Amino acid sequence: MRILLTGGCGFIGSAVIRHLIRTTGHEILNVDCMTYAASEETVEDAPCSGRYRLTRANIVNADEMSRLFETFRPHAVMHLAAESHVDRSIDGPGVFIQTNVVGTYTLLDAARRYWFSLDTIDRAAFRFHHISTDEVFGALAPHDPPFTETTPYDPRSPYSASKASSDHLVRAWHHTYGLPTFVTNTTNNYGIWHFPEKLIPLITINAIEGTDLPVYGDGANVRDWLFVEDHAEALVKAVEKGVPGETYAIGARQPRSNLDVVHTICRVLDDLAPDPRGPRDRLIRFVADRPGHDFRYEIDPSHAERALDWKARHDFETGIRRTVQWYLDNRSWWEVIRARRYTGNRMGTAVE
Ligand code: NAD
Repeated sequence: MRILLTGGCGFIGSAVIRHLIRTTGHEILNVDCMTYAASEETVEDAPCSGRYRLTRANIVNADEMSRLFETFRPHAVMHLAAESHVDRSIDGPGVFIQTNVVGTYTLLDAARRYWFSLDTIDRAAFRFHHISTDEVFGALAPHDPPFTETTPYDPRSPYSASKASSDHLVRAWHHTYGLPTFVTNTTNNYGIWHFPEKLIPLITINAIEGTDLPVYGDGANVRDWLFVEDHAEALVKAVEKGVPGETYAIGARQPRSNLDVVHTICRVLDDLAPDPRGPRDRLIRFVADRPGHDFRYEIDPSHAERALDWKARHDFETGIRRTVQWYLDNRSWWEVIRARRYTGNRMGTAVE
């Protein structure tokens, strides 16, 4: 397959590209406008494969998107490009509406026009895979059953509202125009090449450097944590097997409170690189909570596991150990990013 993949220099898109290059023969056109969250190194050896190309383009640019469809002639789209950080969406929602809503509309419409021009066989085989989040379902109380594919939407942050809008557009293009789209909604990811502003890399790096480990509120908020390489495997299975009109809710069955996450990182780091000054959990600091902070997200992945013949391979302990070791071994990547002093977020606060 030729796959047009958006957002491939970000955290999850790059994991998908690495997985595609290592385990399939597919060709990839990575469409990424290289925001603050992008790094070219994240795709590792993909450029040497001869099956990978990066185009710096913004998905809101309709002419450019049409041109890319006409020249690359993809069999499938994997749409990951997005503004993805909840705190940034609170501080500046405009770019979230532009990229996540207008950008998704622009890409869908370019895909629709290209798809109409295909012959019957290629039209039937074409897939538009939209990658979304479980945050569109709102927040769970402690004893609520986990989200499934049929949970009603109830987004609460500018980020989740913009992703919910994009999910609705993707489904509308299927129902109205017949474009063969499907959606995957996934829980929180963590792992290697994760941009240092998100909870797990931020805590890991601060713990390595021996600085404060800030935790929102009392740290009781719960997320279901999926190792990014397991997610990449699920997404590649989805683009190969996904049924138009379907939704796949992807999760790891590894719910943890934020405070548990921080304690686990400290324990693993103390084991891998002991600090003579004492255990790292001495650095934990509780800070004012995020406005409208959703209490709990968790997915029941039963349908996706059956339909995609997939299951997360890493439990949280195994995934965190690989992640912490990777941040110890790859200081040069995150030190450069930290030194850039990227702006616009609430740095210093632990977020998901
Ligand atoms: P990320 O912020 O790490 O990467 C996003 C990428 O998209 C970057 O490379 C950026 O340059 C690119 N991009 C942003 N705006 C663009 C635009 N207008 N045009 C072209 N490229 C643009 O995000 P991520 O964590 O890798 O998330 C990828 C997708 O997965 C997003 O759609 C996100 O909503 C979804 N998702 C993320 C998580 C998670 O835990 N990170 C969980 C579920 C779903």
